[in-house]
Amino acid sequence: MLTDTPRSEQANADVLLWQTGYRIALALLAAVIAVALRTAGKLTLSSVASETVGANAADWMLGLVTTVYVVLVMVIRSRVRTTRRAGRTFSTLMVVADLAMVFWLVFLLAQPHEYHMALFIALFSLQLTHVYFGRTPALLMLAAIVTSYLLMVDLATKHGSDLQWSEAFTTLVIFGVGALLVILVQSNLHSRLANLVTIFERAEEGDFSNQYDVSADERPDAITAVGRAYNRMRTQLASIVLNDPLSGCFNRRGFEQQYRRELSRAVRTNTDVALLALDLDHFKAINDTHGHLTGDQVIAETGELLRANARAEDLVARTGGEEFIILAPNTSKAGAEQLALRIVEAFRRRTFSTRQVKVTVSVGVVADAVPSEDIAEDLRARADEALYAAKRSGRNRVVAWSHGLDAVRLGQTDESAVVTAPASSPR
Ligand code: GH3
Ligand code: MG
Ligand code: MG
Repeated sequence: MLTDTPRSEQANADVLLWQTGYRIALALLAAVIAVALRTAGKLTLSSVASETVGANAADWMLGLVTTVYVVLVMVIRSRVRTTRRAGRTFSTLMVVADLAMVFWLVFLLAQPHEYHMALFIALFSLQLTHVYFGRTPALLMLAAIVTSYLLMVDLATKHGSDLQWSEAFTTLVIFGVGALLVILVQSNLHSRLANLVTIFERAEEGDFSNQYDVSADERPDAITAVGRAYNRMRTQLASIVLNDPLSGCFNRRGFEQQYRRELSRAVRTNTDVALLALDLDHFKAINDTHGHLTGDQVIAETGELLRANARAEDLVARTGGEEFIILAPNTSKAGAEQLALRIVEAFRRRTFSTRQVKVTVSVGVVADAVPSEDIAEDLRARADEALYAAKRSGRNRVVAWSHGLDAVRLGQTDESAVVTAPASSPR
């Protein structure tokens, strides 16, 4: 079904643009053949048309109908090409023009017993409408086709044709059943495709939570197969897009997504959220002394160590080279400081890589209530500010953010903000 969202208008525009080329070519071809056959005397006008509009009028109407149709299609094409948008109006106009063209040509050129040709041609157009614009426009079109056909038959019977209503109805029933089968068997192709597009768009934004509902497809087809393939890839894709392969933690994109989710949960449940910003100390020196491979190994082990120290519901992410962030939901300032101290302590106790490298870490902590999701950036900035203070005041320590933190940032000692400062650096 057509909806006027920018994306669906864009998709309609794309479809209309390539279809208009075919429409113009087909209309011109039909007109040229009709005129050539008329000139060669091989094509007689419909008796009903000659009688209702006159033989001469029918001839020039043939040219007029084609010209009006081609001009209309070209106007629509140039409009759509400029705006790159096509809402319901354009697609409806196009479908109405198609039907008018087909039924006029058949009315002018075919004898009443051949009116079923209009139904055959319209079936093709109906199928295109169903695939590209959805079930509702297709059903409306079906109603328009049936009405147009009945009008033509009515005109024919009133103007002396021996076409029987019973014959017309039989044709119409066969056509109607065929058309309904086309529409129903293809199980709402358009909306299922739109559903797939939405799932892919979400995935593009890093949200892999949606699955294609395979069980909803009563008659599985190619779209179901694509949906099933996506479902199979979903977990791997999410892992590739949202995780950092070196540390095994979330990457920045994965963190951002989870962060927003946790903040909105904290707003709903009225709970605190804590953020820990971590940065390995003098990491450049480790690279310089032991080489980049050892540096990489330290980053990988840091990921493991952080995850081992955090709770299962905490979110550990690597946000930069040797920078990490931990989001601890439902955690007070005291709890967050405890976690940070535990991590600093864990670094103090262990050595990294086969080269037994000693590494220390500085941690900035902030914890707060979450009145609205808008505090996302502020919380990050405060955690960074506290981390910066930890670096400035000597590294290998935890600093909790507080309003007086600027003093630490300026290089002065603010002991109230410094949670821990191990006596000596293990390096
Ligand atoms: P500070 O205590 O002030 O944080 O000092 P630092 O040396 O850790 O800080 P700085 O940000 O100046 O240096 C970070 C270094 O981390 C620089 C870069 O070579 C290294 N690095 C960043 N990403 C990676 C990585 O993926 N692997 C390795 N081996 N090193 C990395
Ligand atoms: Mg560093
Ligand atoms: Mg750094």
